[in-house]
Amino acid sequence: MSTRASSINRALDQIGDKWCLLIMQEIFLGINSFNEMLEATGASRGVLSDRLKWLETVACLEKELATGSRRSRYHLTEKSRDLYANALMALAWERTYFHSPSLEATRLIHSNCGERCWPQMQCKACHQQIEASDVSYKPGPGATEDLRLKKVRRRSSISVMDAASAKTLNKNLIHIVGDRWTANIIALAYHGFNRFDQFNQELPVATNILSDRLKFLVDEGIFIPVAYQHKPPRYEYQLSPKGEGLYPWFLSLLQWGDKWCDPQRRGRPMRLRHKLCHRALVGQVICSACGEPLKAQEVSYQLAQ
Ligand SMILES: [Zn+2]
Ligand SMILES: [Zn+2]
Repeated sequence: MSTRASSINRALDQIGDKWCLLIMQEIFLGINSFNEMLEATGASRGVLSDRLKWLETVACLEKELATGSRRSRYHLTEKSRDLYANALMALAWERTYFHSPSLEATRLIHSNCGERCWPQMQCKACHQQIEASDVSYKPGPGATEDLRLKKVRRRSSISVMDAASAKTLNKNLIHIVGDRWTANIIALAYHGFNRFDQFNQELPVATNILSDRLKFLVDEGIFIPVAYQHKPPRYEYQLSPKGEGLYPWFLSLLQWGDKWCDPQRRGRPMRLRHKLCHRALVGQVICSACGEPLKAQEVSYQLAQ
């Protein structure tokens, strides 16, 4: 089965599984041994080792076997370090829409300005904040079709909501987007698709699963169902402010996918334009205190104990 080429889908196929997202989050926060990850993610040993192997396969993790020890450590690669903006946007969304003691106690310090800061996404050209509705799309040079392979993965019966430790910062985001279909559906909604039949046409998904995921996204407050026909009842799924708020997370993923998930080097499947400044859109994550772009090595965390 093939679908319209999309950098978001390609990125999600590599790192969008809920356990992969959870592992990457922990690694960004400095956890890097198998046992620490086992505790932090709540995954079973089998699932954790399966996902770590997968993340090595897609060049997002490097395994280092310490000399004289059987313990290995996992490190970010050039490719996964580039997911930093995405990790920051996850944190920003989670803190806007959910409250947890660990989130509230998390502080980010920007070493360049020495201030406590919060990550924000803005347009690199005009420095205005990016809203989903201010972005338009055109096919790019790589607007082809992608073959979607059915992934055979060790399944986990544990939900991230149950498994993740109390310190897990982004568990609501991972719960919502850490399923291939829900993330695909939300991404389509940003492109203006909002009816069942449209989602069904764009995605190789069984109709019962599609219904189930739409209901889930309504229950989670991402979509607001609005009837456009009464007999029989038919609904459009409109993004709520909470759903719109996920846009920077998706945009940073799209930019990462454009850069790292284009094996045939065809170029971007989609061209994005910022309607406010009429220029090609590049989102950049900046420091709320000084307005400068945030780089991983310039941000330190103070986490809840
Ligand atoms: Zn702009
Ligand atoms: Zn700053």
